[in-house]
Amino acid sequence: MAPFAEQVQLAYPTPEELQGRRWIFVPYDRFTDRTGPIAEQPASETGIVIVESTAKAHRRPYHKKKLVLLISNMRHFALEQAARGCKVIYHFSEHSHAQALLQLQRELPLPKITMMEPAERELRIDIDAAIQAGLKMKMVPDTTWLSTTEDFLNVFGAYKAGRAYVMDRFYRAQRQQTGILMDKGKPIGGKFSFDAENRKPYKGQPRIPTPPAFAPDLVTKEVIALVRETYPHHFGSIENFDSPTTQQDADAAWAFALEHLLPHFDPYEDAMRDDELQLFHSRLSGLINLGRILPAQMIADVERACTEGRIPLASAEGFIRQILGWREFMRHLHQQTDGYRLLADTVAQEEGSMPQQDPYAGATPSALSASLPLPAAYWGVKSGLHCLDTVVAQVIEEGWSHHITRLMVLSNLATLCGFSPRQLTNWFWFAYVDAYDWVVETNVLGMSTYADGGLTATKPYVSGAAYINKMSNFCDHCQYDPKRSTGEGSCPFTALYWTFLERNEAVLGNNFRLQMPYTTLRRKSPIELVQLRARADDAITHLQRLPHLKYEPLTPQSN
Ligand code: FAD
Repeated sequence: MAPFAEQVQLAYPTPEELQGRRWIFVPYDRFTDRTGPIAEQPASETGIVIVESTAKAHRRPYHKKKLVLLISNMRHFALEQAARGCKVIYHFSEHSHAQALLQLQRELPLPKITMMEPAERELRIDIDAAIQAGLKMKMVPDTTWLSTTEDFLNVFGAYKAGRAYVMDRFYRAQRQQTGILMDKGKPIGGKFSFDAENRKPYKGQPRIPTPPAFAPDLVTKEVIALVRETYPHHFGSIENFDSPTTQQDADAAWAFALEHLLPHFDPYEDAMRDDELQLFHSRLSGLINLGRILPAQMIADVERACTEGRIPLASAEGFIRQILGWREFMRHLHQQTDGYRLLADTVAQEEGSMPQQDPYAGATPSALSASLPLPAAYWGVKSGLHCLDTVVAQVIEEGWSHHITRLMVLSNLATLCGFSPRQLTNWFWFAYVDAYDWVVETNVLGMSTYADGGLTATKPYVSGAAYINKMSNFCDHCQYDPKRSTGEGSCPFTALYWTFLERNEAVLGNNFRLQMPYTTLRRKSPIELVQLRARADDAITHLQRLPHLKYEPLTPQSN
């Protein structure tokens, strides 16, 4: 088979086709012809423009598997559209997507291009600048989302400093509005959320089926070679890539999750294992965020399976809440706060200083004044903490780990120790295959580190060793004892937890959800407090002293 560039060139338009078709720009995260402008007319009247930009790929040391997933899906999508009869301009560029588009439009020339509103703020900025410079572009709503900005504003109103957003309010409104899992205006099962039922650790039953693996075809192999050569210093392993890269494979991955994983989603949603890293999570976020699997389709399938008795209500509701609730909520929150920049600006305004902003520089809220550098353990240097080392090794290998390992191991430790939320966000951004600004900044700066001071979550998600020991088998294989909180050999999570509360009492002491732990803290003896501080200091010093790997990419963004 000919290399990709030759194959896609066969679908290049003639001058007549350039003028006679509707041209649609497909950004790097919207590979679908099932909704949006591509679905609005026959393929014979459609042309698509795709830009494969090295500038964007070099912006951060993205995981090699993320680059393979994204570029291979991009190339396959171009070939799929060509096979349908669309004309395709597939443009390789060293510039940003928007600059490349502007250049193409001028040179070809290309008539006005249509595109769905970009999901990523970074792309919005680029496209806006190109429009100012003369790019002729018609922006249409992104129909892959389940809700509109208006839906969000109807619940919360416009952003105001000090406002707290509660996902549950938005989720209930969405359920009411869409009628999903509703019967005559009431939630099926008598309640909107079955969240309280997902607290089971996993003890080996029910058996976890092996998800399908998708062997790389020639197009993907070419991309793997390209990424290996062009981005050798990027994060993570490129070996054993086996993720879906075609629409057919993405559909198969979803069908598998629907039939085999989702029926057990709810009870084990919060469980963690070192021998079963995926458990019953779908592991589809990378494909959903690329537009390969559509949220509306997923919800319709889950609802039907629930009605037919193939998925219990608690699991169906739990999964739908992630898609209809959390995913949509995070995207709106990011847009409304301009990626937390409004929040950072509020702080700057209060302090009387408005710094000149680099448009790509991430917001740096840090309500808990956390500023220590992220240690080398996040790049794979062994820390001796089995939970941390296991999850980091998984991320290096796969560019993915499930929600609770992100929240209660990686972020929990960082928050407890006082590592910089911005550095942690940047790490998640390049290390995970599913990370895009709207979802990674909200989840890290907002949900998991409390850097936004409670805008996204009513309290910091932090815990000591007891939670990790209860919900996982990590502690069974760790040198540290989760039952001891002080002294040599004790698990540092517990000492870190108490000293975190102590250190942040001025900010968190009156938080109504933290009254119980604060009461316990205040009852601790001065001697115990001294011992806890010593253990916590020791753990932080140990992590900070781990030597950084030589290959670790130190770009401005990773600092
Ligand atoms: P499942 O557990 O099977 O859930 C189904 C789907 O629900 C996910 O695929 C995802 O699309 C959606 N979802 C669930 N929770 C969230 C959430 N909090 N925010 C948005 N969507 C959600 N998700 C990303 O897509 N990209 C990220 O960069 C990202 N970074 C995160 C960082 C931290 C610190 C935390 C705590 C969470 C982050 N999440 C992120 C949310 C969540 O962890 C992942 O979406 C999920 O783990 C993906 O695995 P899955 O497909 O198996 O999800």
